[in-house]
Amino acid sequence: MDCIFCKIVEGTIPSKKVFENDHVVAFHDIQPAAPVHMLIIPKKHIAAMNDVAEEDLPLIGEIHQAALQIAREQGVAESGYRLINNCGKDSGQVVFHLHYHLLGGEKLGALNAK
Ligand code: AMP
Ligand code: ZN
Repeated sequence: MDCIFCKIVEGTIPSKKVFENDHVVAFHDIQPAAPVHMLIIPKKHIAAMNDVAEEDLPLIGEIHQAALQIAREQGVAESGYRLINNCGKDSGQVVFHLHYHLLGGEKLGALNAK
């Protein structure tokens, strides 16, 4: 499967990892939109939020748990941060492997910036 994030999980494409456990990986976004910009992904290939099945729900909990740990480690847990999932065309999703952006480290702009 030609999925860039699966390749990051496998290690065939390099990334700056900040978290890894049996099911979840997180790494620096290659084009950061804020001083802290990490991507948190399941190791399992799920194309988008629309494809999250009931059996995947524990995984979503693990992603949130990882996000909180990363926010603390990156020093933004108290100052604040945003966890974003883009799903589908109108959201601007470009990588079709489920991922959550963790953004922080500065006052963030409007949620629906044009
Ligand atoms: P989205 O619009 O939600 O699909 O966002 C995809 C994100 O993946 C963008 O913020 C990209 O900068 C990021 N990205 C794409 N390729 C890589 C890569 N090889 N390593 C890290 N981040 C990447
Ligand atoms: Zn994938």
